[in-house]
Amino acid sequence: MSRSNLVGLLPSELEDLAVTLGASRYRGRQLATWIYRKAAVDLEAMTDLPKDFRARLAETHDIALPDIERVTPSQDGSRKLVFRLADERRVSAVLMPDDGRITLCLSTQVGCGYGCAFCLTGTMGLDRNLTAAEIVGQLLAANALLDDEGRVSHIVFMGMGEPLANYASLVSALRVMTDARLGIGYPPRRITVSTVGLVAGIDRLGREDLKVNLAVSLHAASDEVRERLMPINRSWNLEALMAAVRRYPLTSRQRVFFEYVMLEDVNDSAEDARRLARLLRGVPAKVNLIPFNDWPGAAFHRPPLPRILAFQGVLLDAGVTTTVRWSKGEDIGAACGQLKEPVVA
Ligand code: SAH
Ligand code: SF4
Repeated sequence: MSRSNLVGLLPSELEDLAVTLGASRYRGRQLATWIYRKAAVDLEAMTDLPKDFRARLAETHDIALPDIERVTPSQDGSRKLVFRLADERRVSAVLMPDDGRITLCLSTQVGCGYGCAFCLTGTMGLDRNLTAAEIVGQLLAANALLDDEGRVSHIVFMGMGEPLANYASLVSALRVMTDARLGIGYPPRRITVSTVGLVAGIDRLGREDLKVNLAVSLHAASDEVRERLMPINRSWNLEALMAAVRRYPLTSRQRVFFEYVMLEDVNDSAEDARRLARLLRGVPAKVNLIPFNDWPGAAFHRPPLPRILAFQGVLLDAGVTTTVRWSKGEDIGAACGQLKEPVVA
């Protein structure tokens, strides 16, 4: 019989489990500290837990991280990690060192069901949601891989899948990652959740009081263009999406990130930029322009550099903070929108 994974359980759930096994809640807190703070992967290593408690626990539970099947280094210093999950499915994550930071881009689903026209992951369709254990496991496994190179400092939910479509696992994983006392202890300001624009999910996330950063994949400033690129715009159009963004609670220094993939002759004109600036008026916003990353069979092209810079210029002139994000790992198929693994190899 397969044992159930301790990774991904909230510290409070570990406390409950300890009680179920006839021990005190304190034993659950020790377990949380071992798994999340000391990165233990072996119950045997938890020497301050009574032997009989460990033995009872081991009958039904274990600590399992997703296997790292492959690590592909890019010329730019980033690394793509391909994880093999317990059911042989694959997802990927990307480690991106930059300026003293190490950012981990995580996956939340195998594939994705939203079918954005420019995204390779979208061509896979949705296979299944990841569990909280598999989401947290990507972070623990990446930190273990880094070893004495350091530790992941920033986490972005921008890998395969739509985080807000896997809501319960996402929120459990975020709680484990941000719990400063018994969890892994990342400050929420170092974590960013990116969404295709699921309005109900944005509202719900706002009510969790997690204080993580919100990134919205906008990609167009008119419904007409956005609908062509992103089927979700038919359920929640720009007006509904921007209303949800305005409701999302921000701390005083926080801003909402807007991702805008630049597609030649589709959404890259000066008029598009002016429309975008108008759409964002009054919103504490930061725009990330992502020059389109190509994939075989894609129907889009990356605009020439001067056109990208002109677009940025219009936004900057309008007072909107805007950066051009040159994706990492383009040479290894790890850049934004290039993640796709055969579901079962
Ligand atoms: N599903 C979520 C999380 C994935 S984030 C979301 O869509 O927000 C991945 C980011 O890369 C999104 O902003 C996505 O729109 C962008 N992207 C997808 N395909 C791309 C491509 N081919 N080139 C550049 N960016 C792309
Ligand atoms: Fe899914 Fe995001 Fe890709 Fe759209 S851009 S298909 S929502 S992963």
